[in-house]
Amino acid sequence: MTTSGDILVVGEHRGGKPRGVAFETVTAGRRLADAIGKHLTVVVPGRGVADIAAVFARMVGVDRVLVADDDRLDPFTAGPWIATIQSVAMRLEPAALLIPSSITGRDYAARVAARLGAGLVPDVTDVWFDDGRLVAQRGVLGGRMRTAVQFEDDTGPWMVTVAPGAFPKPEVRETACSIEPLDIHISTDDTRVSVTEVTRHEATGQALANARRIVSGGRGLGKAENFALVEQLADALNAAVGASGAVVGAGWRPHDDQVGSTGYTVAPRLYLAVGISGAPQHLVGMQDSEYIVAINRDPDAPIFKVASFGIVGDLFDVVPALIARLQSMAE
Ligand SMILES: Cc1cc2nc3c(=O)[nH]c(=O)nc-3n(C[C@H](O)[C@H](O)[C@H](O)COP(=O)(O)OP(=O)(O)OC[C@H]3O[C@@H](n4cnc5c(N)ncnc54)[C@H](O)[C@@H]3O)c2cc1C
Repeated sequence: MTTSGDILVVGEHRGGKPRGVAFETVTAGRRLADAIGKHLTVVVPGRGVADIAAVFARMVGVDRVLVADDDRLDPFTAGPWIATIQSVAMRLEPAALLIPSSITGRDYAARVAARLGAGLVPDVTDVWFDDGRLVAQRGVLGGRMRTAVQFEDDTGPWMVTVAPGAFPKPEVRETACSIEPLDIHISTDDTRVSVTEVTRHEATGQALANARRIVSGGRGLGKAENFALVEQLADALNAAVGASGAVVGAGWRPHDDQVGSTGYTVAPRLYLAVGISGAPQHLVGMQDSEYIVAINRDPDAPIFKVASFGIVGDLFDVVPALIARLQSMAE
């Protein structure tokens, strides 16, 4: 595909407002546009999104906003969004297409890339040009290392999804850039599924991220019912309950409880790990806790490498004894 050389950003939004990571994606896009002296366009797909488009139009660095307004774009399903972004990209022929790495962006980005025959680097934390081709930086191994990935194709669209928190939000200016409506074609092939109901789920994970004490349970508990031990210990310590990825994967606890690379990153004053081995994906989410206490029957479990205090023993002996001791202290 030949390219205009311009930069295209998807202006994602949620609850009637641009997503925070969409602002940050604008900053990433502007950096690229400045590096090659080109324009930055933001496309805003959705239904009744004029107010959202107006917010993007006032961001410093945005040269043009395109609005794709269609009932089928809300509530979100990937098909219509993929069709919309694909058709804008084919019309604009951008050098780079940047998508926020949100829960929805991750859903459609790879499929847009497949349709455009474009390369895609997900969750990037920096972008620049080297020798006329896009380079994207991203964290690997749970964020312990960074890699720089250069696109092999001489022309774009080079596609990335932008990790939340990696770029600052742009300033807002008094005057808005031009906002233009966009004709899009969404076929019946793109609307094979639709959302019939949306219900709100009260997430507990944010409480976990802010907790001062956390007791987390792992596969060492053996089965879901035994998680009651972790809950009782958490109660006695006035702590929040967390879980390892293995426990969440087994369906013993909801994903909101997961600590680690694909769950929450926590740094409480006390982190008590019960029957958790200490896989790298778990450690990366809790190793900055002030005091780490680990209970594990395997003296060589990796969790002991980061623990301030370790108890080598059977959790079914240790945890009830701890609960009894804490309860007697409270009396
Ligand atoms: C892409 C990817 C992302 C992932 N993201 C995450 C993540 O966000 N968070 C996460 O936690 N994991 C994550 N994982 C999974 C991770 O690799 C490990 O599989 C998981 O952390 C192991 O969980 P665990 O420690 O509970 O189980 P195990 O590794 O099975 O450890 C159980 C531990 O319990 C001990 N034990 C057993 N019985 C007893 C007993 N009676 N008394 C005392 N100790 C006992 C054992 O000695 C062992 O150390 C991810 C994996 C992948 C591939």
